[in-house]
Amino acid sequence: MSFQDAVITGQAPDGGLLLPTSIPDVSNRIAEWRGLNFVELACRIMALYADDIPEDDLAGLIRRSYSNFDHSEITPLVPVGELQVLELFHGPTLAFKDIALQFLGNLFEYILEQRKDCLNILGSTSGDTGSAAIAGVRGKARISIFILYPEGKPSRLQALQMTTVPDENVHCFAVDGSFDDCQRIMKEAFNDLGFKQKYHLGAVNSVNWARLLAQIVYYAYAALKLDAAGTRKVSFSVPTGNFGDIFAGFLAREMGFPIDKLILATNENDILSVFFNQGVYRRGPVHFTLSPSMDIQVASNFERYLFLRLGRDASALKAFMQNFNREGEAMLPPCTAPEDVILATSVDTSTTLDTIRTCYRDFNYLADPHTAVGIAAARRFALSSPVVCLATAHPAKFPESVRRAVGDLVVEHPSLLALESLPQRLEHIPADLALIQNRVRTLSNCHEA
Ligand SMILES: *Cc1c(COP(=O)(O)O)cnc(C)c1O
Repeated sequence: MSFQDAVITGQAPDGGLLLPTSIPDVSNRIAEWRGLNFVELACRIMALYADDIPEDDLAGLIRRSYSNFDHSEITPLVPVGELQVLELFHGPTLAFKDIALQFLGNLFEYILEQRKDCLNILGSTSGDTGSAAIAGVRGKARISIFILYPEGKPSRLQALQMTTVPDENVHCFAVDGSFDDCQRIMKEAFNDLGFKQKYHLGAVNSVNWARLLAQIVYYAYAALKLDAAGTRKVSFSVPTGNFGDIFAGFLAREMGFPIDKLILATNENDILSVFFNQGVYRRGPVHFTLSPSMDIQVASNFERYLFLRLGRDASALKAFMQNFNREGEAMLPPCTAPEDVILATSVDTSTTLDTIRTCYRDFNYLADPHTAVGIAAARRFALSSPVVCLATAHPAKFPESVRRAVGDLVVEHPSLLALESLPQRLEHIPADLALIQNRVRTLSNCHEA
């Protein structure tokens, strides 16, 4: 499959996930790449994978994708005590998902323009993904986006980030149901193949390969910046939900960037940290925490990691996943990996609050609850390499949790304040597939006759 087909398809036709047939080794180019800025480095890395897009076009897409970030470095590094924090929240919705979804929106637009085709994006969200996906495609001519969210579940600010977008190609549906209802309806709509084909349905969730590709860049950028002399490796602590972000770090390491360990930090939803510590992958109930974007049990991108760890043996992976789906748990056959790259730990609510408090008290740094989970995890491991903690959201997106940790403090951001006065646009709708399909039929500008 070509790169462009992989981007448009999202999930593989057989329900599996897509990965490149090989991961390029860039070890011998690193010396020459050191000192490149974020956009320049992104161009070099992405060109290795997006080999069916002319390099000038790709560079234009990348430059545009990061032109509306509010920091000249795109992803700045900030020292916080012994640790370094890599701020990934300088995009339009103040969460790290902008880094991938700004690029994906422009990439969709480019490919659709080449093909004279169009797309109806259907997505479900409990918070950050919806607003970042909308920000990525708003106003784009060949794309409409339909976002389902459980009424009342996203925070007030997260809902405003979706519903105040005025562009006509954006449609928000507050569903009378749970997040699981929204997910189920979305899956059913995609499984209705007649509907999917007729209405050119497309997806933006983190199974899309282009999202991972865009995320490799900031690992490489931070590692090269901290290893200016080319003499030391860098470790990363990653607040983890769907395993997308940390898997991008794993790929950056496979490519030969100077990366030592990856610390996998979960909240109370600890299925992944149990797996990495005990070898058992076991489904449990979802816990609702202060870091809602990590309130996930089964991580869709984990299959990609297992595939590599099983030596690209698709039938072994299939057996593992079938076992897991049948029994609710599965174990990996004895592992031949030479060393543990991924160190995992789970951080509870009181530790998260305590970490926000002590980071602010001791270093005058305000972390959001997701970022705090990663910082707390980093403090548990004594590594010889410097540790970079990924900051995945701006603290002003989660003002209640931040205030709970540090007391009376104004946590705000001008782009969030501006939302308060804007008109909202949304439809309330029952959790019903047929009703939602009907709205897509009515609002779509993109369908077969
Ligand atoms: C999505 C998200 C995460 C988790 O990222 P994954 O790729 O799902 O592991 C962490 N923090 C924030 C703020 C997010 O929006």
